[in-house]
Amino acid sequence: MEITKTQIVEYARGLGATLVGITPASRWDEYDEVEDPYRPASIWPETKSVIVLGVPVLLPILESTPSINYVELYDTSNVLLDQIAYRLAVYLTENGHGSIFLPRDAYGDIEILVRKPFAAFSHVFAGKYAGLGTIGYSHVLLNKKYGPRVRYVSVFTNLELEPDLVIKKELCIKCCVCQKLCPSQAFITRDDQIIAKMNKKACAKHHAQLRKEHRYPCGICIKVCPVGEDREIFNSKDIKVYLEEKEAICRNPDDPRYKRWVHLRKHGSNGDRLF
Ligand code: SF4
Ligand code: SF4
Repeated sequence: MEITKTQIVEYARGLGATLVGITPASRWDEYDEVEDPYRPASIWPETKSVIVLGVPVLLPILESTPSINYVELYDTSNVLLDQIAYRLAVYLTENGHGSIFLPRDAYGDIEILVRKPFAAFSHVFAGKYAGLGTIGYSHVLLNKKYGPRVRYVSVFTNLELEPDLVIKKELCIKCCVCQKLCPSQAFITRDDQIIAKMNKKACAKHHAQLRKEHRYPCGICIKVCPVGEDREIFNSKDIKVYLEEKEAICRNPDDPRYKRWVHLRKHGSNGDRLF
């Protein structure tokens, strides 16, 4: 049975996807930004379209990072994404359109990322080509509604589908708040482009430490980014609160602006630091 784009979007939403975007596999060749082995057609030559699915990271929980509460949110969203993608791939295959999914993360352990900090496939570029956002300074996809606070997964299908439009206007305002507050100082600004040079190894090493403390991942660069309408929804628009956080908590862990995050950080994980 021929499946339409509308049916795919409705099916994916019914499974729990909040964002759904579609790109032809040919956009990887058109934009020529991603090395050949990392393109969908290299990974599975039958691929005609890539369906990118996203679920939001809820800001007030993310704000408590590093905390077990954020770990649980992260793990839950990852399991949900893989399930949505797997079920969508099976649904399409059952209807005669061969499909596979690429899991949202694909590494056996954080120590492997320290040695080999690159994924086999980038959902960030897939999301850009599927019209879900633009790539910001910190290498994440910025979405109009949720900024960088979205987790993504991709389904490759041999079905040709009507694509979504790529967003032309950059959403990143290059404020560099993510750079200032990154605990591993992983970003170096480049004057000729928005996307920073990134020390992925330094970021992975920081994550390895957080993993030992049972409060992985870090997420500070996505927490502090001012882009996203979710800031309005959660009434959390004051970026100064993040810039002053570390010093204020050092001075007074009971500072009323941070008390709720400190409370969550004190429970369920091994770390002693309160920021
Ligand atoms: S924090 Fe600022 S520089 Fe970093 S991604 Fe967001 S808008 Fe861009
Ligand atoms: S996840 Fe944390 S350590 Fe890694 S780049 Fe973002 S802020 Fe820096």
